[in-house]
Amino acid sequence: MVKCDKCQKDAVTYIRYNGSHLCQGHFSEFVEKRVKKEIRNQTNFNKVKNVAVAISGGKDSSVALSLMHSVVKERRDVTLTAITVDEGIENYRPETIKCVRELCDKLDVTLEIVSFKDHVGYTMDDISKNLGYRTPCAFCGVFRRQCMNAVARNINADIIATGHNLDDNAQAILMNFTRGDVERLARLSPHVRIQPGLIPRIHPLRQIPEKETYLYAIINEIPFSDKECPYWSAALRNEYRDIIDELESRSPGTRHSILSSYDAIKPLLIEKYPQKDLGKCKCGEPSPSGKCMACKMLEDLNKK
Ligand code: SF4
Ligand code: ZN
Repeated sequence: MVKCDKCQKDAVTYIRYNGSHLCQGHFSEFVEKRVKKEIRNQTNFNKVKNVAVAISGGKDSSVALSLMHSVVKERRDVTLTAITVDEGIENYRPETIKCVRELCDKLDVTLEIVSFKDHVGYTMDDISKNLGYRTPCAFCGVFRRQCMNAVARNINADIIATGHNLDDNAQAILMNFTRGDVERLARLSPHVRIQPGLIPRIHPLRQIPEKETYLYAIINEIPFSDKECPYWSAALRNEYRDIIDELESRSPGTRHSILSSYDAIKPLLIEKYPQKDLGKCKCGEPSPSGKCMACKMLEDLNKK
């Protein structure tokens, strides 16, 4: 049995991109150290008083909540709230919400659940099955961000932490580069500028590969659901996932390089495409141009 590079215990994993073998304890420590560093890099954490964590019940956001909880519990002046969006997806969301409740009970964290049905009037199943949209993810992403922001603002959250891991971040960067959407590239979260009404989003797991969040969840007995959304195959992002997986398997460290290249040019992108001051849509949400994207999408749905 291969031993841990840091102690005499059996290794549970081999980290290809840095060539190390780690035991359970040292692997968890390796994850926690990078997450704490990311939280410090992405926020002025000493000033934060109210943290919201967006949790879906999958492994990434469940690990993000557990780690934010362990960081926040060292500070008695900080409140932590979990927020779950119920998109209304049969055979998927009810089970994941069960896992969210289990974790929130275990950590003694308050949970807010907001549903698409209450907030926008449609479930994702309505949009896909009744209205016939075969690639419903575009609606889902916009409505989810809006619900999350509205709830976080209502509870006076200073930041929203999400479960986006290294793979998600590398995919988003590559996707926007490939599409030539440089303006959006300049505005990718984690957010650097605070806009009125828009709660900044941070990604504590930004440096942690997806496989490591999975292993961390298993080792630390964090409840999560690995059920997949039935609409997942329609997600455009999957092409980029395959490309990055292929690149990473040929040259380990590719995902980290994509991120660090992006971080190096991000200040230049922001300088070239400064973010416009956001106005307010009539629904109350911040928007760069009058009507917000969620309201435009809702109008389309209402016409059907
Ligand atoms: Fe929403 Fe698409 Fe994700 Fe399902 S796969 S939760 S429909 S964005
Ligand atoms: Zn060890």
